[in-house]
Amino acid sequence: MFKSAYLERVFNDVLKKDNGQPEFIQAVETFFLSMDDIISMTPQIEKYGIMERLVEPERLIHFRVTWVDDQGITRVNRGYRVQFSSVLGPYKGGLRFHPTVNASTMKFLGFEQTFKNALTGLPMGGAKGGSDFSSIGKSDGEIMRFCQNFMLELYRHIGPDTDVPAGDIGVGAKEIGYLYGMYKKIRNESVGVMTGKGLTYGGSLVRKEATGYGLCYFVSEMLKTYRSDRMDDKKVVISGSGKVGLYAAIKAHELGAIVVGMSDVNGYIHDPEGLKMDIVTELASNGELSKRYHERTGCEYGNDPRGLWRVPCDIAMPCAIQNELDLESAKALVANGCYLVAEGANMPCTLEAEKYFTENQILFAPGKAANAGGVAVSLFEMSQNAMHYPWPYDEVDDKLKGIMKEIFFKCYTAARRYKNPYDLISGANIAAFLRVYEAMMDQGIQ
Ligand code: GLU
Repeated sequence: MFKSAYLERVFNDVLKKDNGQPEFIQAVETFFLSMDDIISMTPQIEKYGIMERLVEPERLIHFRVTWVDDQGITRVNRGYRVQFSSVLGPYKGGLRFHPTVNASTMKFLGFEQTFKNALTGLPMGGAKGGSDFSSIGKSDGEIMRFCQNFMLELYRHIGPDTDVPAGDIGVGAKEIGYLYGMYKKIRNESVGVMTGKGLTYGGSLVRKEATGYGLCYFVSEMLKTYRSDRMDDKKVVISGSGKVGLYAAIKAHELGAIVVGMSDVNGYIHDPEGLKMDIVTELASNGELSKRYHERTGCEYGNDPRGLWRVPCDIAMPCAIQNELDLESAKALVANGCYLVAEGANMPCTLEAEKYFTENQILFAPGKAANAGGVAVSLFEMSQNAMHYPWPYDEVDDKLKGIMKEIFFKCYTAARRYKNPYDLISGANIAAFLRVYEAMMDQGIQ
Protein backbone atom coordinates (compact mmCIF):
# COMPACT_ATOMS: atom_id res chain seq x y z
CA MET A 1 0.00 0.00 0.00
CA PHE A 2 2.87 2.39 0.81
CA LYS A 3 5.95 2.97 -1.34
CA SER A 4 8.17 2.97 1.75
CA ALA A 5 8.91 -0.46 3.24
CA TYR A 6 9.32 1.24 6.64
CA LEU A 7 5.79 2.70 6.54
CA GLU A 8 4.44 -0.64 5.37
CA ARG A 9 6.06 -2.39 8.33
CA VAL A 10 4.83 0.13 10.91
CA PHE A 11 1.34 0.07 9.41
CA ASN A 12 1.22 -3.74 9.46
CA ASP A 13 2.21 -3.60 13.10
CA VAL A 14 -0.68 -1.22 13.80
CA LEU A 15 -3.03 -3.57 11.93
CA LYS A 16 -1.85 -6.44 14.10
CA LYS A 17 -1.73 -4.71 17.48
CA ASP A 18 -4.77 -2.50 17.03
CA ASN A 19 -6.87 -5.03 15.23
CA GLY A 20 -10.45 -4.18 16.24
CA GLN A 21 -9.78 -0.42 16.21
CA PRO A 22 -11.02 0.56 12.73
CA GLU A 23 -11.24 4.33 13.29
CA PHE A 24 -7.69 4.49 14.62
CA ILE A 25 -6.38 2.38 11.73
CA GLN A 26 -8.20 4.65 9.26
CA ALA A 27 -6.65 7.79 10.78
CA VAL A 28 -3.16 6.25 10.64
CA GLU A 29 -3.68 5.08 7.06
CA THR A 30 -4.77 8.54 5.81
CA PHE A 31 -1.79 10.07 7.57
CA PHE A 32 0.75 7.53 6.29
CA LEU A 33 -0.52 7.92 2.72
CA SER A 34 0.91 11.47 2.84
CA MET A 35 4.25 10.43 4.33
CA ASP A 36 5.92 8.39 1.55
CA ASP A 37 7.99 11.24 0.07
CA ILE A 38 9.05 12.67 3.41
CA ILE A 39 10.29 9.26 4.54
CA SER A 40 12.45 8.81 1.46
CA MET A 41 14.02 12.26 2.01
CA THR A 42 14.74 11.82 5.72
CA PRO A 43 16.41 8.55 6.81
CA GLN A 44 16.44 9.68 10.48
CA ILE A 45 12.69 9.10 10.64
CA GLU A 46 13.24 5.35 10.48
CA LYS A 47 16.47 5.34 12.49
CA TYR A 48 14.84 7.14 15.42
CA GLY A 49 11.60 5.15 15.27
CA ILE A 50 9.55 8.31 14.73
CA MET A 51 6.54 6.61 13.14
CA GLU A 52 6.47 3.76 15.70
CA ARG A 53 6.44 6.38 18.44
CA LEU A 54 3.76 8.50 16.75
CA VAL A 55 1.23 5.67 16.49
CA GLU A 56 1.57 4.74 20.17
CA PRO A 57 -0.14 7.07 22.67
CA GLU A 58 2.09 8.17 25.53
CA ARG A 59 -0.64 7.13 27.95
CA LEU A 60 -4.11 5.62 27.64
CA ILE A 61 -6.18 6.01 30.80
CA HIS A 62 -9.31 3.91 31.08
CA PHE A 63 -11.54 4.20 34.12
CA ARG A 64 -14.91 3.30 35.57
CA VAL A 65 -17.50 6.01 36.20
CA THR A 66 -20.17 5.04 38.69
CA TRP A 67 -23.20 7.28 39.25
CA VAL A 68 -26.78 7.08 40.49
CA ASP A 69 -29.73 7.87 38.21
CA ASP A 70 -32.99 9.58 39.20
CA GLN A 71 -34.60 6.24 40.05
CA GLY A 72 -31.85 5.53 42.56
CA ILE A 73 -30.32 2.87 40.31
CA THR A 74 -26.51 2.62 40.19
CA ARG A 75 -25.14 3.01 36.66
CA VAL A 76 -21.66 2.34 35.28
CA ASN A 77 -20.01 3.95 32.24
CA ARG A 78 -16.52 3.85 30.80
CA GLY A 79 -14.29 6.91 30.98
CA TYR A 80 -11.16 7.56 28.90
CA ARG A 81 -8.32 10.01 28.54
CA VAL A 82 -5.80 9.37 25.80
CA GLN A 83 -2.70 11.49 26.33
CA PHE A 84 -1.32 11.03 22.87
CA SER A 85 1.64 13.35 22.61
CA SER A 86 3.15 16.02 24.84
CA VAL A 87 6.01 16.84 22.50
CA LEU A 88 4.64 20.30 21.60
CA GLY A 89 3.22 21.27 24.99
CA PRO A 90 0.65 20.23 27.61
CA TYR A 91 -1.83 17.62 26.40
CA LYS A 92 -4.82 19.38 24.87
CA GLY A 93 -8.06 18.07 23.40
CA GLY A 94 -11.75 17.69 24.02
CA LEU A 95 -13.96 15.27 25.93
CA ARG A 96 -16.66 13.45 23.98
CA PHE A 97 -19.75 11.93 25.62
CA HIS A 98 -21.31 9.68 23.00
CA PRO A 99 -22.26 5.99 22.71
CA THR A 100 -19.56 5.46 20.03
CA VAL A 101 -16.76 6.35 22.47
CA ASN A 102 -14.32 3.44 22.87
CA ALA A 103 -10.55 2.91 22.74
CA SER A 104 -10.55 3.10 18.92
CA THR A 105 -12.46 6.39 18.60
CA MET A 106 -10.46 7.92 21.44
CA LYS A 107 -7.15 6.93 19.86
CA PHE A 108 -8.13 8.18 16.41
CA LEU A 109 -9.22 11.49 17.90
CA GLY A 110 -6.07 11.84 20.02
CA PHE A 111 -3.88 11.04 17.00
CA GLU A 112 -5.70 13.63 14.85
CA GLN A 113 -5.57 16.18 17.65
CA THR A 114 -1.78 15.92 17.89
CA PHE A 115 -1.38 17.02 14.28
CA LYS A 116 -4.23 19.51 14.38
CA ASN A 117 -2.66 21.22 17.37
CA ALA A 118 0.71 21.17 15.59
CA LEU A 119 -0.82 23.07 12.65
CA THR A 120 -1.99 25.90 14.90
CA GLY A 121 1.68 26.69 15.62
CA LEU A 122 0.73 27.02 19.31
CA PRO A 123 2.31 25.13 22.23
CA MET A 124 -0.12 22.22 22.68
CA GLY A 125 0.29 18.47 22.70
CA GLY A 126 -2.54 16.17 21.63
CA ALA A 127 -5.13 14.33 23.71
CA LYS A 128 -8.75 13.26 23.75
CA GLY A 129 -11.10 11.81 26.30
CA GLY A 130 -14.69 11.04 27.03
CA SER A 131 -17.23 8.41 27.87
CA ASP A 132 -19.89 6.20 26.32
CA PHE A 133 -22.37 8.16 28.48
CA SER A 134 -24.90 10.35 26.63
CA SER A 135 -26.59 13.42 28.10
CA ILE A 136 -29.54 12.97 25.73
CA GLY A 137 -32.65 12.02 27.68
CA LYS A 138 -30.93 12.56 31.07
CA SER A 139 -32.07 15.05 33.69
CA ASP A 140 -29.83 17.92 34.79
CA GLY A 141 -29.26 16.12 38.08
CA GLU A 142 -28.15 12.95 36.30
CA ILE A 143 -25.80 14.89 34.00
CA MET A 144 -24.32 16.70 37.00
CA ARG A 145 -23.78 13.50 39.00
CA PHE A 146 -22.21 11.80 36.01
CA CYS A 147 -19.85 14.73 35.33
CA GLN A 148 -18.85 14.97 38.99
CA ASN A 149 -18.04 11.27 39.15
CA PHE A 150 -16.16 11.44 35.85
CA MET A 151 -14.00 14.25 37.26
CA LEU A 152 -13.48 12.35 40.50
CA GLU A 153 -11.17 10.09 38.52
CA LEU A 154 -9.98 12.42 35.75
CA TYR A 155 -8.69 15.17 38.08
CA ARG A 156 -5.57 13.21 39.05
CA HIS A 157 -4.40 13.10 35.42
CA ILE A 158 -4.95 16.74 34.40
CA GLY A 159 -3.75 20.24 35.34
CA PRO A 160 -3.23 23.64 33.68
CA ASP A 161 0.33 22.71 32.64
CA THR A 162 -0.24 18.96 32.28
CA ASP A 163 -3.45 18.30 30.37
CA VAL A 164 -6.28 20.71 29.60
CA PRO A 165 -9.53 19.09 28.39
CA ALA A 166 -12.36 20.92 26.60
CA GLY A 167 -15.69 19.97 25.06
CA ASP A 168 -16.50 17.93 21.98
CA ILE A 169 -19.63 16.05 20.88
CA GLY A 170 -22.04 15.77 23.84
CA VAL A 171 -19.91 17.99 26.08
CA GLY A 172 -21.17 21.58 25.97
CA ALA A 173 -21.34 24.50 28.36
CA LYS A 174 -23.40 22.57 30.91
CA GLU A 175 -21.08 19.57 31.14
CA ILE A 176 -17.95 21.76 31.18
CA GLY A 177 -19.42 23.75 34.08
CA TYR A 178 -20.11 20.64 36.16
CA LEU A 179 -16.73 19.11 35.34
CA TYR A 180 -14.84 22.31 36.15
CA GLY A 181 -16.85 22.86 39.35
CA MET A 182 -15.83 19.43 40.62
CA TYR A 183 -12.15 19.89 39.71
CA LYS A 184 -12.10 23.18 41.58
CA LYS A 185 -13.69 21.60 44.62
CA ILE A 186 -11.22 18.70 44.73
CA ARG A 187 -8.08 20.77 44.12
CA ASN A 188 -9.21 24.02 45.72
CA GLU A 189 -7.70 25.85 42.73
CA SER A 190 -9.34 28.19 40.22
CA VAL A 191 -7.04 27.56 37.29
CA GLY A 192 -7.33 27.19 33.53
CA VAL A 193 -7.63 23.42 33.67
CA MET A 194 -10.52 23.23 31.21
CA THR A 195 -11.40 25.37 28.21
CA GLY A 196 -14.84 26.17 26.84
CA LYS A 197 -15.77 27.50 30.28
CA GLY A 198 -18.69 29.88 30.78
CA LEU A 199 -17.92 33.58 30.38
CA THR A 200 -18.76 34.22 34.04
CA TYR A 201 -15.94 32.00 35.33
CA GLY A 202 -12.94 32.32 33.02
CA GLY A 203 -14.20 31.37 29.56
CA SER A 204 -13.07 33.21 26.44
CA LEU A 205 -15.19 35.23 24.08
CA VAL A 206 -15.53 33.54 20.65
CA ARG A 207 -14.67 30.07 22.06
CA LYS A 208 -18.10 28.57 21.44
CA GLU A 209 -18.22 29.96 17.89
CA ALA A 210 -14.55 29.31 17.12
CA THR A 211 -14.63 25.96 15.28
CA GLY A 212 -17.51 26.96 12.99
CA TYR A 213 -16.22 30.48 12.37
CA GLY A 214 -12.69 29.18 11.81
CA LEU A 215 -14.00 26.68 9.26
CA CYS A 216 -15.56 29.53 7.23
CA TYR A 217 -12.37 31.61 7.47
CA PHE A 218 -10.43 28.62 6.13
CA VAL A 219 -12.90 28.11 3.27
CA SER A 220 -12.68 31.82 2.42
CA GLU A 221 -8.89 31.47 2.06
CA MET A 222 -9.37 28.44 -0.20
CA LEU A 223 -11.85 30.27 -2.42
CA LYS A 224 -9.56 33.28 -2.65
CA THR A 225 -6.42 31.27 -3.43
CA TYR A 226 -7.77 28.63 -5.79
CA ARG A 227 -10.67 30.43 -7.47
CA SER A 228 -10.13 34.18 -6.84
CA ASP A 229 -13.59 34.07 -5.34
CA ARG A 230 -15.48 34.69 -2.09
CA MET A 231 -18.27 33.13 -0.07
CA ASP A 232 -20.91 35.49 -1.54
CA ASP A 233 -23.86 33.66 -3.07
CA LYS A 234 -22.27 30.24 -2.66
CA LYS A 235 -24.79 27.51 -1.91
CA VAL A 236 -23.65 25.70 1.22
CA VAL A 237 -24.86 22.51 2.94
CA ILE A 238 -23.84 21.77 6.54
CA SER A 239 -24.39 18.54 8.44
CA GLY A 240 -24.77 18.44 12.21
CA SER A 241 -26.58 21.04 14.24
CA GLY A 242 -24.24 21.09 17.23
CA LYS A 243 -21.97 24.03 17.96
CA VAL A 244 -19.72 23.49 14.94
CA GLY A 245 -22.52 23.24 12.35
CA LEU A 246 -24.56 26.05 13.86
CA TYR A 247 -21.74 28.59 13.99
CA ALA A 248 -20.45 27.55 10.57
CA ALA A 249 -23.96 28.26 9.22
CA ILE A 250 -24.16 31.63 10.98
CA LYS A 251 -20.73 32.76 9.72
CA ALA A 252 -21.31 31.43 6.18
CA HIS A 253 -24.56 33.42 6.06
CA GLU A 254 -22.81 36.50 7.45
CA LEU A 255 -20.18 36.18 4.69
CA GLY A 256 -22.92 36.22 2.05
CA ALA A 257 -23.35 32.48 1.40
CA ILE A 258 -26.76 30.85 1.10
CA VAL A 259 -27.12 27.96 3.54
CA VAL A 260 -29.50 25.75 1.53
CA GLY A 261 -29.43 22.62 3.70
CA MET A 262 -28.63 21.38 7.20
CA SER A 263 -29.10 18.13 9.09
CA ASP A 264 -29.15 16.51 12.51
CA VAL A 265 -29.57 12.94 13.76
CA ASN A 266 -33.28 13.00 12.86
CA GLY A 267 -33.02 14.08 9.24
CA TYR A 268 -32.18 16.93 6.86
CA ILE A 269 -33.86 20.12 5.67
CA HIS A 270 -33.50 21.86 2.32
CA ASP A 271 -34.63 25.27 1.12
CA PRO A 272 -33.10 26.43 -2.20
CA GLU A 273 -33.81 30.05 -1.19
CA GLY A 274 -31.68 29.63 1.95
CA LEU A 275 -32.58 28.61 5.50
CA LYS A 276 -33.61 31.39 7.87
CA MET A 277 -30.76 31.82 10.33
CA ASP A 278 -32.88 33.25 13.16
CA ILE A 279 -35.08 30.12 13.13
CA VAL A 280 -32.05 27.83 12.76
CA THR A 281 -30.40 29.50 15.78
CA GLU A 282 -33.53 29.18 17.87
CA LEU A 283 -34.08 25.50 17.07
CA ALA A 284 -30.51 24.20 16.81
CA SER A 285 -29.93 24.70 20.50
CA ASN A 286 -32.71 22.18 21.19
CA GLY A 287 -31.06 19.48 19.09
CA GLU A 288 -34.25 19.07 17.08
CA LEU A 289 -33.48 21.34 14.19
CA SER A 290 -34.61 19.36 11.16
CA LYS A 291 -38.10 18.24 12.24
CA ARG A 292 -39.04 21.46 13.98
CA TYR A 293 -37.68 23.71 11.23
CA HIS A 294 -39.70 21.70 8.71
CA GLU A 295 -42.85 21.95 10.89
CA ARG A 296 -42.36 25.72 11.24
CA THR A 297 -41.61 26.54 7.59
CA GLY A 298 -42.87 23.60 5.52
CA CYS A 299 -39.51 23.26 3.71
CA GLU A 300 -38.30 19.96 2.23
CA TYR A 301 -37.44 17.40 4.94
CA GLY A 302 -36.17 13.82 4.83
CA ASN A 303 -35.74 11.52 7.80
CA ASP A 304 -32.36 10.21 6.61
CA PRO A 305 -29.66 12.78 7.45
CA ARG A 306 -27.59 11.51 4.51
CA GLY A 307 -30.26 12.96 2.16
CA LEU A 308 -28.41 16.25 2.74
CA TRP A 309 -25.59 15.09 0.47
CA ARG A 310 -28.00 14.96 -2.49
CA VAL A 311 -28.89 18.64 -2.13
CA PRO A 312 -27.36 20.69 -5.01
CA CYS A 313 -24.66 22.98 -3.61
CA ASP A 314 -21.25 24.58 -4.24
CA ILE A 315 -19.75 23.85 -0.83
CA ALA A 316 -20.32 20.99 1.64
CA MET A 317 -19.27 21.20 5.28
CA PRO A 318 -19.62 17.89 7.13
CA CYS A 319 -19.75 18.96 10.79
CA ALA A 320 -21.40 15.99 12.54
CA ILE A 321 -19.31 12.88 13.26
CA GLN A 322 -16.66 10.51 11.88
CA ASN A 323 -17.46 8.63 8.66
CA GLU A 324 -20.81 10.37 8.15
CA LEU A 325 -20.01 11.00 4.46
CA ASP A 326 -19.36 7.82 2.44
CA LEU A 327 -18.49 7.14 -1.19
CA GLU A 328 -22.12 7.12 -2.35
CA SER A 329 -22.72 10.52 -0.72
CA ALA A 330 -19.48 11.87 -2.20
CA LYS A 331 -20.64 10.81 -5.68
CA ALA A 332 -24.03 12.46 -5.14
CA LEU A 333 -22.41 15.72 -4.01
CA VAL A 334 -20.09 15.87 -7.03
CA ALA A 335 -22.90 14.92 -9.44
CA ASN A 336 -24.95 17.83 -8.07
CA GLY A 337 -22.27 20.45 -8.58
CA CYS A 338 -20.34 20.58 -5.30
CA TYR A 339 -16.72 21.66 -5.88
CA LEU A 340 -15.44 22.26 -2.33
CA VAL A 341 -15.66 20.07 0.76
CA ALA A 342 -14.41 21.31 4.14
CA GLU A 343 -14.45 19.04 7.19
CA GLY A 344 -15.82 20.73 10.33
CA ALA A 345 -15.95 17.41 12.20
CA ASN A 346 -13.01 15.08 12.81
CA MET A 347 -12.65 12.58 9.93
CA PRO A 348 -16.28 12.89 8.73
CA CYS A 349 -15.38 11.56 5.26
CA THR A 350 -14.55 7.91 4.76
CA LEU A 351 -11.25 7.08 3.10
CA GLU A 352 -13.12 6.14 -0.10
CA ALA A 353 -15.06 9.43 -0.12
CA GLU A 354 -11.82 11.36 0.42
CA LYS A 355 -10.17 9.52 -2.48
CA TYR A 356 -13.16 10.16 -4.72
CA PHE A 357 -13.03 13.90 -4.01
CA THR A 358 -9.30 14.02 -4.71
CA GLU A 359 -9.58 12.02 -7.94
CA ASN A 360 -12.36 14.32 -9.14
CA GLN A 361 -10.39 17.53 -8.46
CA ILE A 362 -12.74 18.63 -5.69
CA LEU A 363 -11.10 21.17 -3.37
CA PHE A 364 -10.83 19.37 -0.06
CA ALA A 365 -10.00 20.76 3.39
CA PRO A 366 -9.13 18.05 5.94
CA GLY A 367 -10.57 18.47 9.43
CA LYS A 368 -7.22 18.64 11.19
CA ALA A 369 -6.61 21.94 9.38
CA ALA A 370 -10.08 23.34 8.75
CA ASN A 371 -11.57 22.73 12.19
CA ALA A 372 -8.51 23.78 14.22
CA GLY A 373 -10.09 27.12 15.15
CA GLY A 374 -11.74 25.61 18.23
CA VAL A 375 -8.58 24.35 19.83
CA ALA A 376 -6.70 27.52 18.81
CA VAL A 377 -9.16 29.66 20.77
CA SER A 378 -8.88 27.16 23.62
CA LEU A 379 -5.18 28.08 23.80
CA PHE A 380 -6.22 31.75 23.84
CA GLU A 381 -8.49 30.90 26.76
CA MET A 382 -5.54 29.28 28.57
CA SER A 383 -3.46 32.41 27.93
CA GLN A 384 -6.19 34.68 29.31
CA ASN A 385 -6.56 32.44 32.37
CA ALA A 386 -2.81 32.51 32.99
CA MET A 387 -2.82 36.32 32.71
CA HIS A 388 -6.01 36.56 34.79
CA TYR A 389 -7.21 39.04 32.20
CA PRO A 390 -9.88 38.55 29.51
CA TRP A 391 -9.45 39.81 25.94
CA PRO A 392 -12.15 41.70 24.02
CA TYR A 393 -14.26 39.93 21.37
CA ASP A 394 -12.59 41.54 18.34
CA GLU A 395 -9.12 40.71 19.59
CA VAL A 396 -9.95 37.00 19.87
CA ASP A 397 -11.83 36.95 16.55
CA ASP A 398 -8.95 38.72 14.75
CA LYS A 399 -6.44 36.27 16.22
CA LEU A 400 -8.66 33.38 15.11
CA LYS A 401 -8.82 34.78 11.56
CA GLY A 402 -5.03 35.18 11.54
CA ILE A 403 -4.46 31.61 12.75
CA MET A 404 -6.82 30.09 10.17
CA LYS A 405 -5.11 32.02 7.41
CA GLU A 406 -1.71 30.84 8.63
CA ILE A 407 -2.89 27.23 8.85
CA PHE A 408 -4.19 27.40 5.29
CA PHE A 409 -0.89 28.79 4.02
CA LYS A 410 1.17 26.21 5.92
CA CYS A 411 -0.88 23.42 4.31
CA TYR A 412 -0.86 25.06 0.88
CA THR A 413 2.90 25.67 0.98
CA ALA A 414 3.66 22.08 2.03
CA ALA A 415 1.23 20.77 -0.60
CA ARG A 416 2.99 22.80 -3.33
CA ARG A 417 6.42 21.79 -2.16
CA TYR A 418 5.88 18.06 -1.63
CA LYS A 419 2.79 17.09 -3.73
CA ASN A 420 0.61 19.49 -5.74
CA PRO A 421 -0.98 22.81 -4.73
CA TYR A 422 -4.45 21.29 -4.45
CA ASP A 423 -3.53 18.42 -2.14
CA LEU A 424 -4.32 19.95 1.24
CA ILE A 425 -4.65 16.49 2.83
CA SER A 426 -0.96 15.84 2.25
CA GLY A 427 -0.12 19.50 2.89
CA ALA A 428 -1.76 19.38 6.34
CA ASN A 429 -0.22 16.03 7.27
CA ILE A 430 3.26 17.00 6.14
CA ALA A 431 3.28 20.50 7.69
CA ALA A 432 2.02 19.08 10.99
CA PHE A 433 4.42 16.14 10.91
CA LEU A 434 7.47 18.32 10.29
CA ARG A 435 6.78 20.40 13.40
CA VAL A 436 6.21 17.33 15.57
CA TYR A 437 9.26 15.60 14.09
CA GLU A 438 11.56 18.54 14.78
CA ALA A 439 10.38 18.76 18.39
CA MET A 440 10.84 15.00 18.85
CA MET A 441 14.38 15.13 17.49
CA ASP A 442 15.22 18.08 19.77
CA GLN A 443 13.93 16.34 22.88
CA GLY A 444 15.74 13.02 22.50
CA ILE A 445 14.48 9.49 22.55
CA GLN A 446 11.67 8.98 25.06
N1 GLU B 1 -12.94 19.15 20.54
C1 GLU B 1 -12.33 20.18 19.76
C2 GLU B 1 -11.47 19.59 18.68
O1 GLU B 1 -11.77 18.53 18.18
C3 GLU B 1 -11.65 21.22 20.64
C4 GLU B 1 -10.55 20.71 21.52
C5 GLU B 1 -10.03 21.74 22.52
O2 GLU B 1 -10.45 22.89 22.48
O3 GLU B 1 -9.19 21.34 23.33
O4 GLU B 1 -10.52 20.16 18.23
